[in-house]
Amino acid sequence: MSRTRLTVVLSQAQGKNPAKRALEESICAALIMEPGLDVSVVPYLYDLDANHTGRLFLEGVQGDMVVLTWLYPRACFWLLDRDGIKGHFGESQLKPADTDEDDEEASEPEPPKGIGSVEVPDRHIYCLDLRDFNKHEPYIDEVRRIARECKDRREAKLKQWVQGNPTMVQLGSYLRDSEQPVNGKEHPTFQPEELLKQPGRRWYPVIDYSRCTNCMECIDFCLFGVYGVDKLDRILVENQDNCKRGCPACSRVCPEQAIIFPDYKTPAIAGAPVGAITGLKIDLTKLFGGDAQDALQQAALERDRELVNDGRDAVGMTVGMPKRQTGKDQGPKDELDQLTDALDALDI
Ligand code: SF4
Ligand code: SF4
Repeated sequence: MSRTRLTVVLSQAQGKNPAKRALEESICAALIMEPGLDVSVVPYLYDLDANHTGRLFLEGVQGDMVVLTWLYPRACFWLLDRDGIKGHFGESQLKPADTDEDDEEASEPEPPKGIGSVEVPDRHIYCLDLRDFNKHEPYIDEVRRIARECKDRREAKLKQWVQGNPTMVQLGSYLRDSEQPVNGKEHPTFQPEELLKQPGRRWYPVIDYSRCTNCMECIDFCLFGVYGVDKLDRILVENQDNCKRGCPACSRVCPEQAIIFPDYKTPAIAGAPVGAITGLKIDLTKLFGGDAQDALQQAALERDRELVNDGRDAVGMTVGMPKRQTGKDQGPKDELDQLTDALDALDI
């Protein structure tokens, strides 16, 4: 696998939905005809554990990568990052057909204020959502555009590197050299039947570090030992399989909407973009239930249900509730309050 070829990985849907399988197959059939691409298929990304061959394959990919999944791009990107498959976020230009022009203008992403990822290699990872279109053409066009963008970026870097203007012959020689295995190691080959072995379903939180401020409210709230801290004292999903299936409680407690449950039915919790006017409407009415206090109460109820299921005592709102948000009504208004007020004033 070369650093100058673009790796494209399609992550299958859970189950055997024929319409989804048909779309996956038509995308793969079209992509393998494209020059300069390495195309692979893995099962549903969220379900891959550390020993799954699909995960080992993803870990071995060098260079830029496009991942097509049945997940929001934000969920896909931070899921990969959590598994050590890191890169810079590649901006997709794919817009679902029903994207409103006005919304698009209003939906400039918020500047990142989170702690970000660490040890990010010099490559880009683009995540495309397979729910956006039910035909393969838009995805093929976007992969072609990304391939051009990645090639231009590599060539610009090379020009900078040699501090001059290499001829096309020199560039060609660089590109051929880059086809050699890195450190003399070939990327291992995987058998398709191993790669596509269907994993069991999983449920755990994924942290969006572009939003996470490391406030530690989630670790205080979760009483099931899911969260921990790494050697840099950064919050971490440490024991992900301790999380209780179907429960999204801590995502309601996170003040930054940084906790994603990719399989949850509510878009704001499943990783829908944050920052758009439409996004805020979703967040305020569905994630926070229109009020941060309602959200905290709901989170406490969800947590109690899991405690009781485990034979433990319910604790209600007496343990691990976020201080900043419980004092919200009395305290000065924060950014979210101000945005809510602004939206109320707009009456939208
Ligand atoms: S509550 Fe949210 S912002 Fe705070 S540490 Fe946890 S994920 Fe990060
Ligand atoms: S959903 Fe519940 S069990 Fe899972 S991490 Fe959050 S608080 Fe812990």
